[in-house]
Amino acid sequence: MMRRIREFFMNRYGTDQLNRALMVVYALFFFVYLITKNNVFLFIALAVALYQVFRTLSRNFTQRAKENQFFLKYWNPVKRKYSSIKKKVTDKTHRYYKCPKCKTEVRVPKNKGKIRITCPKCSEQFIKKT
Ligand SMILES: [Zn+2]
Repeated sequence: MMRRIREFFMNRYGTDQLNRALMVVYALFFFVYLITKNNVFLFIALAVALYQVFRTLSRNFTQRAKENQFFLKYWNPVKRKYSSIKKKVTDKTHRYYKCPKCKTEVRVPKNKGKIRITCPKCSEQFIKKT
């Protein structure tokens, strides 16, 4: 029995970033279904879950890797944006301003009162309270 199970899982694609994302999507739709009791959300959740299981058990590695690459192409910029926002929010020693002229982001130390900031890119000067 154990051997049969092991053989079943052998040479399967397994999990990747896309599958993990699908699990999150599945959980979200299932959660919405629990609140709304609307079967449409349950249906979407199950469809996503099925697709995830299908990908995990797939033997077509090339195609699955392609899907994952496609997913990462759009997901990575989102992740980068999110982590840069998170960094700014959790930064206790600096504030971030956008240069009013060229929109370059400028990082300045916090709690210095009103200061004149010089944009490192276009040399525009502007005054901000930090
Ligand atoms: Zn500037």
